[in-house]
Amino acid sequence: MCDTCPSPDRREFLRGAAIGAAALALPQWAFGAHGEEKKPDAGKKGPAKTDARAEHAAANGASHAPATQKVTPDEALERLMQGNKRYVSNKMFHPNESPEARTKLASGQAPFAAILGCADSRVPPEIVFDHGLGDIFVVRVAGNVVEDEGTGSMEYAVEHLGVPLIVVLGHERCGAVKATVETLEAGAEAPGHVAALVAKLKPAVEKTKGLPGDNAENAMRENAKSGAAQLAAMEPILKEKVEQGKLKVVAMRYDLDTGAVEVL
Ligand SMILES: [Zn+2]
Repeated sequence: MCDTCPSPDRREFLRGAAIGAAALALPQWAFGAHGEEKKPDAGKKGPAKTDARAEHAAANGASHAPATQKVTPDEALERLMQGNKRYVSNKMFHPNESPEARTKLASGQAPFAAILGCADSRVPPEIVFDHGLGDIFVVRVAGNVVEDEGTGSMEYAVEHLGVPLIVVLGHERCGAVKATVETLEAGAEAPGHVAALVAKLKPAVEKTKGLPGDNAENAMRENAKSGAAQLAAMEPILKEKVEQGKLKVVAMRYDLDTGAVEVL
């Protein structure tokens, strides 16, 4: 990931040294007007281009702010929710997918949000939040479980790239959670390295056991919420940023049927 970092000195980060203002200074394209990078709408259904651009600009709040002005955690959350609204209503902008966007991003990245999501092929964050290259820093693993490598990736995103928002994105009918429920109910052992996922998901399944409703749904919600809580309390980097008000960590649920996300 450091091939595209604003600062080439990854060792500085790895040593845990304080990241100076220069390292966090965002490049010109950081939160630019994404509408300019929108693909032509020829042949597509949807709102007129001018309306689409206006909506998009509104959806991106600080899109005309100075390049060095970072978005707040709440603004970042609003961007994601607006993108999901577009996705649900089939009015996507598909921002930052053009060759021009790719070229602008080749020398650095400043994503406005990080997402720990499930590896499930039906829940790609860039699509369900209608964002593109350089917008979202994504870690995906089955069951969106919190593990060291993913946590390190989030710390990197927050400390090195200045990301103000982490989302732990669970989803309806998660196969990893369902498999964990079934494995534990049967008193069986999961095969191969799937056992590592089951071990990570087990606390959420056990905590929600016996509650009204669907076991896997309840466990999925619990797993996303506890994952967000774990990350928010993770010392030293994430906890400190949360306490400073520079970072928010939220859990979400994605609905496979409607495409909508909800904050848990
Ligand atoms: Zn899943």
